[in-house]
Parts: sequence; C-alpha cells; structure tokens
Amino acid sequence: MRARSERSATASAAVASGSEATAPAFPSGWAELVEEIRGCTRCQLHRTREHVVVYRGGMQPRVLFVGEAPGAEEDRQGIPFVGRSGQRLDRAIAYVGLGSTQFGILNLIKCRPPSNVFDREAARTCRPFLTRQVALLDPEWIVPMGAHALGTLLPGSPKITDAAGTVVESGGRRFFPMLHPAAALHRPSLGVRWDRDLDSLRAVLSAPAGTSSARRYR
Ligand code: URA
Repeated sequence: MRARSERSATASAAVASGSEATAPAFPSGWAELVEEIRGCTRCQLHRTREHVVVYRGGMQPRVLFVGEAPGAEEDRQGIPFVGRSGQRLDRAIAYVGLGSTQFGILNLIKCRPPSNVFDREAARTCRPFLTRQVALLDPEWIVPMGAHALGTLLPGSPKITDAAGTVVESGGRRFFPMLHPAAALHRPSLGVRWDRDLDSLRAVLSAPAGTSSARRYR
C-alpha cells in the first residue's frame, strides 16, 4: 500500500468529478480514470443511463463503502447513494465517526440497470474500473455492502449474513462486510442486524491498528 502521507492531508471531500480532479489532493491518474469511466460504452447499460455514477467522498478515504449499482435517483444526479439507502448509509458513516474526507462510496456497476436487477455481465465489464479505483484510493478498510459486493471483492466468502460484521483480510487489504443498506431499510430484522454490525465497525475503527482478529476466506 502507498504511504498515506504522499497525498495532501487536506484531501477534498468533493464528489470526484473530472473538473475537480485537477486539485492536488486527487491521486495521480484519477482524473483520467474518471474520464474513461464516464465515456464507457462497453456494455448495453450506456444506452439507457442518464449519468455515469463514479464516486463520492474524499480522495484519501480511510474507509471505502462498495455498493451494487446506481438506482433511479443516483442515475438522475450522477452521485452514488443519494436516495433512501444513501440516507441510511450517511447516518451510519456519521455514527462510526468518519468525517467528510475520511470515507468514499462507489458501486460495482457505474450505470443504472433499468430494471434495478443486478446485471452480472455489467459487473464483470465494470470490474477493471473498480480495481483501478481501489488501487488509486488505497483505503485502509473496504466495506462490501450486500451479497454482490461481497462475492465480487471476496470470492469464496460465506453468505453475507454470515460474513457481515466480521473483519476479513485478503490480498493485503482489510475488509468489513456489511448488509446492503436497502436490506436494512426493507426488513426490520435486518435493520437490527445492520445496527449491530455498525457498532462492531465503530469499535474496529477506533481500536489500535492490528488489534482486531481477522478471518481469511482464501
Ligand atoms: N444502491 C446501490 O447499491 N448503490 C447506489 O448508489 C444506490 C443504491
């Protein structure tokens, strides 16, 4: 992992649009990547999208939250997690104590699947973008939210309800899988679970480095 001091401590919390990407706090190569993602026509979703939804958050995030795909509101605004799930996620981020430059949010898929059904082919096509975003942002923690993010980032992991709320180490990175915030919104029992896992995430983030015991799935 890159030394975190390489990047400005005043990292911008701005939504990572191409125009802001000239600010020194953005990692080198980010602006080019954003442009590439925005111009992407590699799968059929580019035909129906209003906006490509790339990223929101700081450029030196301590924690990177990974969702599935933009919904209608995200497609309209071009920003990830701005609908009801996003409100739940924002409350969670504040609860675990992350400031506006300390987190980032993105999706596996950058364009809205029209039916809101998870599109595996699009996820495969988008995967290289995700890999490059993670490499450039270089977060201390990655939080895959929901089964699809978990299966993509940690193949071979148990089902999301077993993995959620635990620390996992893989490929030199630390992960903390969680349920998708939409699940927490729609089923009260999963809302209780979401809150419990959030307490664990808060404890993990405030513990001295290296003191949380981790699982390995492969
Ligand atoms: N659900 C997601 O997975 N991503 C979003 O951006 C919004 C809802």
